[in-house]
Amino acid sequence: MDCLFCKIAAGEIPSTKIYEDEYVYCFKDIAPIAPIHYLIIPKTHISGASEITSENSGLVAKVFEAAAKIAESEGIENGFRIITNCGEDAGQTVHHLHFHLLAGVKMGWGKDAVCPVE
Ligand code: 5GP
Ligand code: ZN
Repeated sequence: MDCLFCKIAAGEIPSTKIYEDEYVYCFKDIAPIAPIHYLIIPKTHISGASEITSENSGLVAKVFEAAAKIAESEGIENGFRIITNCGEDAGQTVHHLHFHLLAGVKMGWGKDAVCPVE
């Protein structure tokens, strides 16, 4: 399958690895929007959050287990935010389920975080 994140998870395209286990792969985002900006992906291809089912939802739990481990191992002590963009309105650009882990800065919320495009 011609999928960028499948290729990154398989090591066919280079990335800066932060964490890996049997189910998930975590690497640095190429265009960070926070001092710490990682992407956590299931190794299995799922195109986005709208494709999560009772058969594959266990992988989402694995992503969040990994996030807690990564926060510990990377010394993220003041908290973090996890976001997944799904579909056009949310601005999803890579159609392999991925979770942005953002940290290292005090983040806004409300209007600052969910801002309709003019
Ligand atoms: P989305 O916009 O789909 O929620 O997030 C896709 C993310 O993937 C973006 O933050 C973008 O910077 C990142 N990205 C796109 N291509 C690459 C790549 O080749 N390598 C890495 N490390 N990140 C990428
Ligand atoms: Zn994929």
